[in-house]
Amino acid sequence: MADSVLVVGGAGYIGSHMVKLLASTGHEVVVFDDLSTGHRDAIASSVLVEGDLRDPVAITKALALRKFSSVLHFAAKCYVGESVQDPAKYYGNNVLGTANLLEAMRTNGVGKLVFSSSCSTYGDPVMTPMTEEHPQDPVNPYGATKLMGERAMKDYGRAYGLRTVALRYFNASGLDADGTLGERHDPETHLIPLVLREALRLRAGGARDATQLQVFGDDFDTPDGTCIRDYVHVSDLCAAHLLAMRRLDAPGRAFEAFNLGSEKGSSVLDVIECCRRITGQDIGYKMAGRRAGDPARLIASSERARRDLGWSPRYADLPEIVSTAWRWFSRT
Ligand code: UDP
Repeated sequence: MADSVLVVGGAGYIGSHMVKLLASTGHEVVVFDDLSTGHRDAIASSVLVEGDLRDPVAITKALALRKFSSVLHFAAKCYVGESVQDPAKYYGNNVLGTANLLEAMRTNGVGKLVFSSSCSTYGDPVMTPMTEEHPQDPVNPYGATKLMGERAMKDYGRAYGLRTVALRYFNASGLDADGTLGERHDPETHLIPLVLREALRLRAGGARDATQLQVFGDDFDTPDGTCIRDYVHVSDLCAAHLLAMRRLDAPGRAFEAFNLGSEKGSSVLDVIECCRRITGQDIGYKMAGRRAGDPARLIASSERARRDLGWSPRYADLPEIVSTAWRWFSRT
């Protein structure tokens, strides 16, 4: 019988890529999502239970629908800036939501969980590249709520035998290679989609000097002064989830964390230059002040994921990642 998997937050950007991968690898998938930021059409052929994770009854009922072997948890609010302005939204959705999910899993006897965590649980880097041993000292509420999720998982493992993996994503980016799944955040705050939208505007005849694209700070301690990030392809993230699920089949694994990054750093200006080459548009930008909570440089060491999960990312560099995104953005 096919493995049944509950994908919480499966209608969102990363979740919908995961649902597609699970379906293509013979899993039975049920999605639990409140569609607050996700899209029904991204998971058109999947069973959807529409519900709010902050409601313990809703998630407990969803988990009782089938004999689920695992849960994958993508449902979260994920904007660093917003988390500073409106922390209640983050503590409610990310912390309360995760606590409800863990409790519903315990009640229903579902024993394996893979959780979307984040490099923002580390805070400002004290060493680069960052390994899983890096101190976890988040500098914004978003990172703090992800760290609380990890702590709760660890405690549930110790006390109730729940087996869990936290995957600490660096900068999730790119899109499914066949161009059918999109990235539709509203508002969009992420760099690559914003730069590609600017390319679309130029392609449609927009004036270069009317650009709305901003580069947040050019006075960081990096070679070109702009922030360096580690961009990792969404399909590679999903592949790591499958490997993590398999790893949890071994008994006695209480809690483990793995960094997922490409282990390469690209500055904001590198990203813009790469997008210029891929799109053929002379993308312009305005230099702006720093955005609150932005560390200068975040680069992963993913050695542990390679070694223990057998993870080997297929999208090795930024041009490949941007090309997959551009395929979808430029589809019309
Ligand atoms: N960034 C920027 N202009 C934008 C959006 C982002 O300069 O309009 C910068 C941001 O300050 C960071 C990098 O691009 O240094 C990546 O930001 P993003 O929001 O994509 O991801 P984050 O690193 O915040 O998870």
